[in-house]
Amino acid sequence: MKAKVNEELCVGCELCVNTCPEVFEMQDGKAIVKADPVPQEAEENCKKSKEDCPVEAIELE
Ligand code: SF4
Repeated sequence: MKAKVNEELCVGCELCVNTCPEVFEMQDGKAIVKADPVPQEAEENCKKSKEDCPVEAIELE
């Protein structure tokens, strides 16, 4: 699985970083993906981050 953050949509709420710190981190006020591909053990948290992102900025493939 791969994760992407749409920087234009991200409002920097840090929710995904708190839910799935294995994959997301903050950089200059936006979330970025630091794990590519997503480690298998982080997939569930990563899906939860996508569901919970208030602006639907996270894409998974
Ligand atoms: S949850 Fe969404 S809006 Fe919040 S930091 Fe993550 S990608 Fe950005």
